[in-house]
Amino acid sequence: MIKFLDLKKINAPYEIEFQNKLKSVLEKGWYILGDEVKTFEKAFATFCDANYCIGVGNGFDALVLVFKAYIQLGKLQKGDEVIVPANTYIASILAIVEAGLIPILVEPKLETYNINPDLILEKITSKTKAILAVHLYGQLAEMDEIHKIALQNNLVVVEDAAQAHGATMHNSQLTTHNSAVAYSFYPGKNLGALGDGGAVVTNDSNLAETIQILRNYGSEIKYHNQYKGVNSRLDELQAAFLNCKLPDLNTDNQKRRAIATRYLSEIKNKKIELPFWDFSENHVFHLFVIRTSNRSDLQKYLAENGIETMVHYPIPPHKQKAFLNWNDLSFPITEKIHNEVLSLPMSPVLTKDEVSFVIEVLNNY
Ligand SMILES: *Cc1c(COP(=O)(O)O)cnc(C)c1O
Repeated sequence: MIKFLDLKKINAPYEIEFQNKLKSVLEKGWYILGDEVKTFEKAFATFCDANYCIGVGNGFDALVLVFKAYIQLGKLQKGDEVIVPANTYIASILAIVEAGLIPILVEPKLETYNINPDLILEKITSKTKAILAVHLYGQLAEMDEIHKIALQNNLVVVEDAAQAHGATMHNSQLTTHNSAVAYSFYPGKNLGALGDGGAVVTNDSNLAETIQILRNYGSEIKYHNQYKGVNSRLDELQAAFLNCKLPDLNTDNQKRRAIATRYLSEIKNKKIELPFWDFSENHVFHLFVIRTSNRSDLQKYLAENGIETMVHYPIPPHKQKAFLNWNDLSFPITEKIHNEVLSLPMSPVLTKDEVSFVIEVLNNY
């Protein structure tokens, strides 16, 4: 049986290192915002080629805190509209709502699954103040275009990079100097903790400072609260585990790209639509997502052959019960994607033979 994602196998090589970290944290007796968090923040900022990294509780909070900090800094106001892809994991949209802002959904390109910059312009009104770009499945959105539109319309740019740790453009993870980028370290992400975790990465010192205060009850000096903040700190132990794994992230992403390269060149079946990739470093293949008009049939066939697959995602956000008032809206490309996508096994621990088997079974379909 080939697992879609074998998390046990991914973390097994770190077992001794993890145990040593636990021991060291126990010996220090410091559990919240200690040396491990500081070390990780510094290392991840460097990894992202950015000035600041603030560790937070999870990827959702990373997004919410970026928006709340921009509100605190007067760059956004409650009720402002935020452009966001209709085709995303619902967390991107919920984060906008949680911050008191209004999500405005925009269709993706069918080829890349990412937001279509050409369609952003027609959704911009006098209330539009930000764009939340999502790098879905690990592939960067068209950030040059998005930044151009943002600049012309005086919009803040936020990036949801929960699926795209290490994807680079112009040799940098931060696509320009005025983005705020949100990351998740949920166990299944390209850089995953042993629990929840997240971070914001930015070059904006005011934003970084505000988020650092907001994540800790709005308090910089203990028991002095300057903002109505929240409790969302990256856990010391999770930071310690992430410190063990971060040095291998680039190698792991390279392994994912190697598997993707094989899938792309060796899967040959007219019933299967393969993902677009220009073979640059702008993709870290968090997921390898194919499309087919008869998904449930293909998924059943693969399962019968011992291959586990997943659907990311089965129901578009605008069709969810949580967004009843959007249920009648029509986003045909988003809906088509949700009906047809299927994620193949993809992870740095997938073996050559396993990849070969997946390809062989798909070609016999
Ligand atoms: C995982 C994910 C999130 C949320 O991250 P959590 O750490 O689970 O809160 C947000 N956006 C996208 C695109 C994600 O894949």
